[in-house]
Amino acid sequence: MKYDAVVVGAGFAGMYMLYRLREMGLSVQVFESGSGVGGTWFWNRYPGARCDVQSLDYSYSFSEELQQEWEWSERYATQPEILGYANHVADRFNLKEHIAFDTKIISANYQDSSKKWLVTTEKGETHTSQFCILATGCLSVPKAIDIEGIENFAGESYYTSSWPREEPHFGGKRVAVIGTGSSAIQTIPVVAEQASSLTVYQRTAAFSQPAKNRTLDREEVRVFKENYQKHREASKHSLFGVPDKPMAQSALEVDEKTRNKVYEDAWREGTLISLYQSFNDLLFDKEANDTAAEFVHRKIREVVKDPATADALCPDEFPIATKRACLDSGYYQCFNQPHVSLVDLKKNPVERVTEKGIKTTDQEREFDAIIYATGFDAMTGAILGVEIKGSNEISLREKWFAGPKSYLGLGVSGFPNLFLITGPGSPSVMSNMIVSIEQHVDWIADCIKHMQTEGLSTIEPDSTAEQEWVDHVNDVANATLFPSANSWYMGANIPGKPRVFMPYIGGCGVYREKCDSVAAKNYEGFVLNR
Ligand code: NAP
Repeated sequence: MKYDAVVVGAGFAGMYMLYRLREMGLSVQVFESGSGVGGTWFWNRYPGARCDVQSLDYSYSFSEELQQEWEWSERYATQPEILGYANHVADRFNLKEHIAFDTKIISANYQDSSKKWLVTTEKGETHTSQFCILATGCLSVPKAIDIEGIENFAGESYYTSSWPREEPHFGGKRVAVIGTGSSAIQTIPVVAEQASSLTVYQRTAAFSQPAKNRTLDREEVRVFKENYQKHREASKHSLFGVPDKPMAQSALEVDEKTRNKVYEDAWREGTLISLYQSFNDLLFDKEANDTAAEFVHRKIREVVKDPATADALCPDEFPIATKRACLDSGYYQCFNQPHVSLVDLKKNPVERVTEKGIKTTDQEREFDAIIYATGFDAMTGAILGVEIKGSNEISLREKWFAGPKSYLGLGVSGFPNLFLITGPGSPSVMSNMIVSIEQHVDWIADCIKHMQTEGLSTIEPDSTAEQEWVDHVNDVANATLFPSANSWYMGANIPGKPRVFMPYIGGCGVYREKCDSVAAKNYEGFVLNR
C-alpha cells in the first residue's frame, strides 16, 4: 500500500502522531507489534505497575475536552488505568481503524529514486510512504538476560517487561525477583503479599522514595482542572516536563539542620524530582549530592530493621539521581517481613539459573517462580530493532556504531524524511514523556505542513548541524554528574553498547525554544529539497 506517512508504534507517541497527521488530511498507517494500543503500558502489566509521574501530568494536553472529561482515580495511576486511558483516547478519536495491530516492522529502506520509504513487516508485506516516523518508545526492548541457564529452570519464569495477560498466582509459592530497578521495586511489595517466600536478588541498590500515592479527591481535581492550561504551560517550559520548583540555593550554602528540613519537605512531597530539585547543585557537585544520598540512607535505615539488610539496600556506587530514581509503595518496609529476604549479589554473584532455582557463589536456593526485572535496551534498542537504511543504503546501525547521532533527537543526517519521536539527543526519558511526545509530534506535524505548503519533498539534518548538536548534548551531560554512573541512560546496562549519555539534559523548556527557533529560521540545520 502507499501512504503519505507510516508511523511505527501505537503507544502515546504513535497515537498522537496519527491524530495530528490525519487531522491534516494525510493518509497515515500505524504499525504496532502488540495487539492493542498503549506501548509500554500494553506490555508492562506486572503486579504493582504504575506511573511515577502524577496522573494529572502524565496525560495528553492536546484536547481540552479530553483532559477535562477523563477522571484519574489515583495520584499515580496504575497500569490498567493508564491502558484504559490509552484505549479511551484511541476510541474517542477513532484511531484504531488506522492501526495495524500484531504487525511488526522489521525494515525501512529509503529509495533514492522515488524519494519514498519502503517498510517491510515481519509477515513480508511491503508499504511505501513519503515519511517514516518512529514512535517506537524508549524502554520497549527488554535487555537480553545475561544469566546462564535460564532455560533450564523447571518452574515458572516471568518478565516484568512482557507480563502475561492472564495474571499468574503466586499464593503459597517460593518466588525470586532478579533486579532492583523501578519495575522490581514496584513488583516486590505486591508479590510479597501473595508468595510464601520472596527472595530479592540485588546487584546494585537503587534510591527509592515513597510515592505517597493516594486516591484523588474529586473537589481537588475540579479545582486543579480549572487551571489546567496554566499548569500545562509551566510544564512545557520546565526542566523535566512538570512545573519546576524554585531552587536558588546550593546544598552546601545552608547548615545541616536547614538542609535536612528541605529534604524532609521534599521527601513528604513524594515525587520523582522533589528531592533533586531541593538545591541547585545536587546534579552537578558530588559533595552536595552526597548530602542528599546520606539523607536517603538515613531514611532506609529508619525503616529496615535488620542492619545488614539496610546496609545492603543503601546505594553507594553512584551519585543519587544519576541512575533513574524510583518511587515506591512500601518497598523498604517489605524487607521487615519474615518471608522476604535480600541476596546481595555484590557479595555472592549469580553463577547460573538451575533446574530448581538460582545458584549464587555461596549456595543454591530453590524456587517455584522467578521474576526477571532486568531492564531494557533503552532509547536505541527499538529504533535499531528496525533494520533502517537511508540514502545510498547507509545503515543506521552502522552510523550509530559508536553511539546515536541525531539532530535534536528528531532526525538523522543521511535519512531523509525519517523522524524520531523522543529519540536520543532529546529530553525524552529525562522528562515527563507525554510532554516531550506532544512537543515532538507537534513539531513534526508543523514541519510536514510547512513542506506541503512550500512544495518541498524531503528534509534531513545537515551533517554539521547534527554533529554540533551531538557535541552540545555531550557537553551539557558532561557538566553534570550523570556520566559517572553505570546507568541505562549511558547504555552501560547492555554489554558492548557504546557508553554515551543518550538523552538531552538541558531541560524541556530550553530544548523547546531551540526546536521552535530552528523551525522559525526556516528549519535551520536541516536541508530541504523540492
Ligand atoms: P532497570 O532500572 O534497568 O533495572 C534493572 C535491574 O536488573 C537492575 O537492578 C539491574 O542491576 C538488574 N540486573 C540486570 N541484569 C542483571 C543480571 N544479569 N544479574 C543481576 N541483576 C541484573 O530496569 P527497570 O526496573 O525495568 O526500569 C527501567 C526504566 O523503566 C526505569 O528506570 C524507568 O525509567 C522506567 N520505569 C518506569 C516505571 C514507572 O513509571 N513507575 C516503572 C518501571 C520502569 P544493575 O543495576 O547492577 O545492572
